[in-house]
Amino acid sequence: MMPIGWRVRYSVCMGDVIVIGGGLAGLATSVALAQAGVKVTLLESRPRLGGRASSFEDASTGELIDNCQHVAMGCCTNFQHFCRVTGIDDSFRREQELFFVAPPTVTTNNHPDVCRFSAMPLPAPLHLATAFLRLSYLTLREKLALARGLKALASERAETARQTNFADWLTEQRQPASVIERFWCVVLVSALSESLDRVSVAAGRKVFVDGFLANRHGWEVWLPTVPLDELYSGQLTRWLMSHGVEVRLKSGVERLVLENDRVAAVELRNGEHLSAQQFVLAVPQHRVRSFLPDEWQDKPPFNRLDQLETAPIASVHLWFDRPITELPHAVLVGRLSHWMFNRARGEGREARGERTPPNYYQVVISNAREVAERSQVEVIAEVVSELKAIWPEAASAVLLHSRMIVEHKAVFSPLPSSDELRPAQQSPIANLQLAGDWTQTGWPATMEGAVRSGFLAAENIARLFGRNASMLQPDLPVSWLTRWWLG
Ligand SMILES: Cc1cc2nc3c(=O)[nH]c(=O)nc-3n(C[C@H](O)[C@H](O)[C@H](O)COP(=O)(O)OP(=O)(O)OC[C@H]3O[C@@H](n4cnc5c(N)ncnc54)[C@H](O)[C@@H]3O)c2cc1C
Repeated sequence: MMPIGWRVRYSVCMGDVIVIGGGLAGLATSVALAQAGVKVTLLESRPRLGGRASSFEDASTGELIDNCQHVAMGCCTNFQHFCRVTGIDDSFRREQELFFVAPPTVTTNNHPDVCRFSAMPLPAPLHLATAFLRLSYLTLREKLALARGLKALASERAETARQTNFADWLTEQRQPASVIERFWCVVLVSALSESLDRVSVAAGRKVFVDGFLANRHGWEVWLPTVPLDELYSGQLTRWLMSHGVEVRLKSGVERLVLENDRVAAVELRNGEHLSAQQFVLAVPQHRVRSFLPDEWQDKPPFNRLDQLETAPIASVHLWFDRPITELPHAVLVGRLSHWMFNRARGEGREARGERTPPNYYQVVISNAREVAERSQVEVIAEVVSELKAIWPEAASAVLLHSRMIVEHKAVFSPLPSSDELRPAQQSPIANLQLAGDWTQTGWPATMEGAVRSGFLAAENIARLFGRNASMLQPDLPVSWLTRWWLG
């Protein structure tokens, strides 16, 4: 029971739990708690939900466009569970074939070969063996080196993996420069948005083991077929409201009010105070300390959060007067552009009679530090010229409209030792949970990591309310062959 004093002192009593931040971590916490029968109030400062995974209206086209294409993988079991529970899983399509566009090199006669990457009906890790063999831009000798590197990575000791950076590890493993550039960089920079000298071996190992080696379905790519805003501000908001969650947008929190080392209330930017029994702070890590009174700001783990470094991601949005490719997406090897997504193929939208953006393509550039310092015009011109070199249709197409968006603090950098800076969800303040992709989840900064953090925070709260619920979903099972292979 809440002490009566709180009701007298703070005008509104909002129920059991207040969640601050409507990104995926806050949304997952709210969903899990609502399912456990806990009353939740979700406070979000912006006029929409989704946080870093959200959309906005492009003034020139009137289209709702995502800040950046977001993809999940088959190994993201918690994110998938979150989507299934709330019924938004229908708005994703599962890609079981990836298209790698070869780099512009002499080996491929400057011809941008498209390599199809798909699984064979074999147990992991053999399911992708032929897909790797079909990568035409790697020689047989390079493929053998790669296989040796993958085996060494999967068998790496946990301690070495946490402390060593990936670039040094690749050198130790005598991986050829061409394999580093055309394979390791291609996969890891896209997945972790960092250069390999700023990635721990543990983070890289997670991507390869969970994504490619452990289970036949881990590598499959899940793509939303509608704008992110439609998912989170639309369908998901309806689910939350129908499950008793009070969603309050444009409700920025100014600070937490502490009494006797417990959170007594939150103070909104408009001066309103809201009280609850439990609180979840699901905001980006660099915002956390500003919510706390001075005496808590310098205590661990809060005093270390600013040391978590971040990396930018850029997305280039292009509207052409005609289709430039029929491919749904492409991984562009050895270029400035990393991924191309064909957003004109919004089949979900057509089925619902909605307008499909005409010939709209999104190009994602991960680890965009260098790009962030260049002019938009210059970067867009380079991206367009890369597309023209790959697809002849693009050469004759007219670019009608373009824009570039750089998210400067897109993800935290998975540096060696960054895990030591990531706090557990249970904070040292007894009735305050932390949630966010930056908390201890075992995952890099991803939607899966954010959802995991939310489920873990919700589990802690359920336990504090005397309800023993296990909310975290199991990983995909590791195939018998991989278990045997890795000993
Ligand atoms: C450009 C880009 C591309 C990405 N691509 C992928 C991808 O392809 N796949 C993938 O898995 N992940 C991707 N990510 C990472 C993914 O978006 C994040 O890991 C995830 O969305 C983080 O969720 P979160 O809830 O932890 O944080 P956030 O999304 O940052 O949510 C925090 C929320 O708190 C709110 N807030 C802040 N201050 C206050 C306040 N004072 N009061 C109330 N609310 C407040 C914010 O408005 C925000 O909604 C990408 C990220 C970016 C930026």
